[in-house]
Amino acid sequence: MTSKAALAPSHMMELPRKILIGERVVSEAGALVRSLGGTSKVAVITGRIVKKRAGGQCSASLTGASLKSRWYVVSDASMDTVNKLYGKIGKDGPDFIIGFGGGRSVDVAKMTAYRLGLPFLSVPTSASHDGISSPFVSVRGIDKPHSIKANTPIGVLADTHLLSQAPPRLLAGGCGDLVAKITAVKDWELARDEKGEYFGSYAANLAYMSAKIILDESEKLKGRDSFSIRTIVEALISAGVAACIAGSSRPCSGAEHLFSHALEYVAGSDCGLHGERVGLGTIMMAKLHGLDWEKVAGTLRNMGAPTRARQIGLTEEQVIGALVKAQSLRPDRYTILSKVRMDKESARALAKSVKVI
Ligand code: ZN
Repeated sequence: MTSKAALAPSHMMELPRKILIGERVVSEAGALVRSLGGTSKVAVITGRIVKKRAGGQCSASLTGASLKSRWYVVSDASMDTVNKLYGKIGKDGPDFIIGFGGGRSVDVAKMTAYRLGLPFLSVPTSASHDGISSPFVSVRGIDKPHSIKANTPIGVLADTHLLSQAPPRLLAGGCGDLVAKITAVKDWELARDEKGEYFGSYAANLAYMSAKIILDESEKLKGRDSFSIRTIVEALISAGVAACIAGSSRPCSGAEHLFSHALEYVAGSDCGLHGERVGLGTIMMAKLHGLDWEKVAGTLRNMGAPTRARQIGLTEEQVIGALVKAQSLRPDRYTILSKVRMDKESARALAKSVKVI
């Protein structure tokens, strides 16, 4: 064995066991929970609007599989909410947890399931980010300024009919989170080349493919028909699985994500959606990496995602502040921003050169 192979680090790959995608498959939620080991009581964590819109179908399916369900409506993704749910659900004693809704509900459910040590099914009702299949969560109120690792969902159920009813802006955000994989993978390569960091080619290629399909096919996908919704949600699920295989968020999250996290610091967490901020970050990081940033911007435009900061209410100064701050949020994650240090002047020049400001 070569010394290089001997030094390769070991890590655990935890993958979703079943992924069910299709039109109106929410009616199969009960059977899926049963097949994944749920036997009696299920806790469903959801949002108010989603519960009203589609809760009935999910609830009927669980009842049809002789499963009792109790629903918990959450309005934010914070540790405070997770702590409250931990207490409540812990007392109610379910043997399975479903996250049914947008990014917030899925994140809160994933974190709560992790803390309670219960299996978790992810049922996204919008294709807005790759957390639907990965072990990573973003919740407010943790001591880290970036996403943290919980457990991988044991299953994913993606009902393309439900997903097609989500506001178009959420799907556009999902495309922002997908194009990000080209700069995330570049950052990972950089860390391998310059810092000797572990690099998983398979995971990197899988994540890269998720970005490439959007970059190559945005003309076809912009129609938002069932074909495009299915393609986008499959790409998001694959990207999440790439993170499972890598054992870290490396293939999915680089400097463009650090920029997004920094924006939340500088401008507050209501400044656009995760994927919208990340999309803007990708345009700028693509330029720094010498990639075709115009293609990134054109893809985002095709998919209806913002390419200018002011489209999500951000000022020039906030963008510049976030670019300067981004790398300091996670000094251990080597990215293009570790190499090309940003000061106010260079940040302004970069953002202007790609017309983000
Ligand atoms: Zn993301």
